[in-house]
Amino acid sequence: MRAVTSRTNLPLAVAEARGTGATGVKLYAELPASLVRAITAEAHRQHLEVWAHAYLHPAKPSEVVAAGVDVLSHACLLGFELSPGMPPLGGESGRVPTEKAMKPGAGLSRLFDEMRRRGSILDATLSIYDRFDDPATRRCAPGVADHIVRAATRRASPSRWARTTTRTGGIRTAPSTWSWSTSSGEPE
Ligand SMILES: [Zn+2]
Repeated sequence: MRAVTSRTNLPLAVAEARGTGATGVKLYAELPASLVRAITAEAHRQHLEVWAHAYLHPAKPSEVVAAGVDVLSHACLLGFELSPGMPPLGGESGRVPTEKAMKPGAGLSRLFDEMRRRGSILDATLSIYDRFDDPATRRCAPGVADHIVRAATRRASPSRWARTTTRTGGIRTAPSTWSWSTSSGEPE
């Protein structure tokens, strides 16, 4: 793990990651959209793939998608697209607004359409919400992440809802998370 700021020498930082034998980098938190774009562009230039938490505060989900990352991790975090402002993670304000997120389509249709257009992969990691759920720190109320994934999949292609492939009508889902109960995804 390393901290990256606007002053970081990105070509060097990415080259160092590549030098470890990594085939991708993962972006976790506290990154503005401009930096998400810059890191992603440099990683791709050096033929690394980019995983990113779907909400990077302050970069919101639509900005993470627009930056061109390959994979968006943790379905719950997509719900922050519905939050007023850009709340920091944690605490009462750092939670996905349940009522908005549970509406039909989860209000995220435009986001899903852009993911489909770009071929973004949704790394849903739903099982972590069962295994590591702590009411004090949870970012989605129970059921919200499941609802978001269902909405994403329906938006992708209703006729392919039940397919267990890596590509569901455009929004690709990581195979390890698609079966919902066998995810080996780590909590962060
Ligand atoms: Zn993560």
